[in-house]
Amino acid sequence: MNKKINILISASILGLLALSLIQGYLINNTYKLKKEAFINDTRRSISRIDDFSPTLDSLSNIWQEDLLTTLTDYKVKTATKTDVINNLQRVINSINELFKQGYQKELLKNNIPYGIKYHKSVKHIILMDSISNDTIYDYKKMPKAIILGDSIPVKNELYISNTLWETDHLDTREIDGKAVNTSLYLMFHTEDVMDIDGWKTEVFKQMIGLLMLSLLIFCFVFGLLYYSIKNLITQKKIADIKTDFVNNITHELKTPLTTLSLASEMLKNPLVKKDSQHFDATINTIERQNKRLQKLIDQVLSNSLGYKEIKLIKKPVEIEAYLNTVLDDFSLIPYTKNVTLNRVFLAKNKVIKIDKFYITTALLNILENAVKYSNDDCVITFNAEIDSDLKISITDHGIGISEENHKHLFDKFYRVEDKALHDVKGLGLGLYYSNQIVKAHHGTITVKSEKDIKTTFVITLPIN
Ligand code: ADP
Repeated sequence: MNKKINILISASILGLLALSLIQGYLINNTYKLKKEAFINDTRRSISRIDDFSPTLDSLSNIWQEDLLTTLTDYKVKTATKTDVINNLQRVINSINELFKQGYQKELLKNNIPYGIKYHKSVKHIILMDSISNDTIYDYKKMPKAIILGDSIPVKNELYISNTLWETDHLDTREIDGKAVNTSLYLMFHTEDVMDIDGWKTEVFKQMIGLLMLSLLIFCFVFGLLYYSIKNLITQKKIADIKTDFVNNITHELKTPLTTLSLASEMLKNPLVKKDSQHFDATINTIERQNKRLQKLIDQVLSNSLGYKEIKLIKKPVEIEAYLNTVLDDFSLIPYTKNVTLNRVFLAKNKVIKIDKFYITTALLNILENAVKYSNDDCVITFNAEIDSDLKISITDHGIGISEENHKHLFDKFYRVEDKALHDVKGLGLGLYYSNQIVKAHHGTITVKSEKDIKTTFVITLPIN
């Protein structure tokens, strides 16, 4: 059964883990899709901004015309490639602030609410020729990029588009006093990138519902599983306790029943019938075993009462006198063990209001346990003192109780599982009932014990 429960628990935990992994995977996928969709939407919204804005368009014309002029100079060899690049860089620097401002205004006009940074970076400048192409600029070979717009850290760059500007240009230059016509065919390759400020927050906002729902479902399934497993373990514990109880009570009933059947057989014997002494002894045995059976049944019936069901009839009693009578009666019980009882009372002339019948039962349960769970020489110390409450400690130097069992001691039907205790009879009701009685008096009962050394039960009862 234990093995089955362990397998069930492990399987459920693995199942939950697998479900969580699948859920995590799906959320991650949704996140990627949402992110892609969001970026694509933004890309679509801004992709044509610089094409349709007159301000941005006129700024573009400035650097484009300037570039074509310096390229013509390059063609007639009055400028070098470096001159072309430096000049382009200079013109772009001079218009960059205006371009950035113009771009942000366009964003506002197009109702794009989140902060966007944008730039166009030059990739290649190539002069095409029927014989060979002349590369003026190649971004891979240059230490510094030429950028129009905001600067964006590489890790944040989100690609928008590639643009190819192809144009032919005719111009005239005066060389050595002669007008020379030049023509060029230009391929100007740029890449547009953006950075969306706080895109993660935007995507998160879109996913919050899904995340909350997933979390809720996870908590619900986890709670359900936890509750079911807890219930299963409790049921198993209860089933174990019931089995133990049935075993214990069968064990307890066996001896008196066997004795009773033997004794009744004996009564049928004519020899016993004639021997009045033998006859009386057998009748006494029947009586004793009958009482024992009665006591067992009473124990099961009454000792199972909870503290709310116990009806107390409280009366004031003089503490020392009362405890002395309880201990005197206890001393009269014949035991097979050597029992020594020490009394230490610090409660002279004090009165307490209790139900004598019930408190006596509780005290006797603990005293009888002290004998039951001791070796042949049993020394018990009974201590009573008054603080603000009456505090009774009962200490024995018997087999003791290991720490892990302390918390269960007062549970119904609980008995410490110890092979050495196999022959010590009991139903696991004594301490449960004592605790219920003390609780009904609004008191407490605690245990302090070290295995194989000693055990002390402390009962605290309010004086009033
Ligand atoms: P029972 O004695 O009928 O088994 P109790 O409720 O009186 O039931 O006690 C519960 C368990 O607590 C006992 O089975 C025993 O293992 C342990 N126990 C109680 N008192 C003592 C004690 N003085 N010393 C050691 N073990 C004890």
